[in-house]
Amino acid sequence: MWERVFSCPPFRIAIVGGGQLGKMMTVAAKQFGFYVLVLDPTPGSPAAQVADCQKVASFHDREAIRRMAEEADVLTYEFEHIDCTALAELEAAGFPVFPAARLLRVIQHKLAQKQALQAAGIPVPQFMAVGGAADVQAAARQFSYPLLLKACTGGYDGKGNYLLRAPEEIGQALEVLGETELMAEKFVPFACEISVLAARGRDGEVRTYPLSENEHQDNILRRSIVPARVGPAVAGRAREVAEAVMREFAGVGVFCVEMFVTPDGGVLVNEVAPRPHNSGHYTIEACVTSQFEQHIRAITGLPLGDTSLRSPAVMVNLLGTEGHDGPTVLEGYRQALALPGVHLHLYGKAITAPQRKMGHVTVTAVNLEQALNLAEQAQNLLRVAAAGRGEE
Ligand code: AMP
Repeated sequence: MWERVFSCPPFRIAIVGGGQLGKMMTVAAKQFGFYVLVLDPTPGSPAAQVADCQKVASFHDREAIRRMAEEADVLTYEFEHIDCTALAELEAAGFPVFPAARLLRVIQHKLAQKQALQAAGIPVPQFMAVGGAADVQAAARQFSYPLLLKACTGGYDGKGNYLLRAPEEIGQALEVLGETELMAEKFVPFACEISVLAARGRDGEVRTYPLSENEHQDNILRRSIVPARVGPAVAGRAREVAEAVMREFAGVGVFCVEMFVTPDGGVLVNEVAPRPHNSGHYTIEACVTSQFEQHIRAITGLPLGDTSLRSPAVMVNLLGTEGHDGPTVLEGYRQALALPGVHLHLYGKAITAPQRKMGHVTVTAVNLEQALNLAEQAQNLLRVAAAGRGEE
């Protein structure tokens, strides 16, 4: 039935992961009239609320991933902690998976990722593999304190990272990080953190987006400011570095290149995400083509869209509040939506928990000062609470 009513090349897109990124990818794909299947272990996941079909299964369920692909023309994913082998098997059978499994395998492993970037001449903080306390001491001799210890796999939102301040903390750091492969990294006293979204099409064309300036608290992104408040030389360098990353990895889809801006105006790549990113949510309202539409265009072989900025923007994450666990309510949305240029996104997660990403607000305005001001007002009005806990 769907095939018969379809008027463009028919694409059926399988997305592994049904969270907010999957949801916003799905909305973009549905705008093109595409058919979307999502795989997520939670029934009624955010993406499933807008997709045609959800497969309820674990991200590590190879058989479920394979069966979903049988009903689709192309497969993508919304986060990197999924079973690479399942994707590699699909590719080996000739099924299109974007970004490619070989790339995901490198990106999933922080040390392998940094080694690949360094080998390609892309600037990264100094790092080394560490196996135990003696190696950490050797890293400290080279990098001095503080330094970062990072788990090579499975980390996100700062989980799996330990900021090591003194030799006395080595034992505790290794205990907290547990039995896992580790790397040490020189601490970068950055002037600010930025990210550049970049898209690469199936034909190899690369386009980058304007820089986003990102502020984190407890390792979680709180606010993105666009355009980033850096000079044109830094902005130009950051976009060049992002293009170099895209050329090196040669993946298809939208990628996010997170970087540190050093006090002398240099840029160092912290991390590459092989997918649309939280710091790129501003593109929905502020760019000609959103990162989600761009990702769908890229993986389906459509021409890439215009990445120009239409207006300055500030994006603020709506996180679950401390002490609030349970059915989600958003307080203050009427007042916040009465402010000009406020765009509210709620992901449709039934249950809130402290620090959980429940939604975001993007404020667009004629200038950045106004956008910052309105975003602060909106942020002060909005609070994610659990039902029945609103009056504390
Ligand atoms: P990651 O999960 O590795 O991206 O790290 C999360 C956050 O930790 C980053 O956004 C930075 O704020 C901080 N961070 C990570 N690596 C470093 C580093 N080498 N120097 C300074 N801060 C870092």
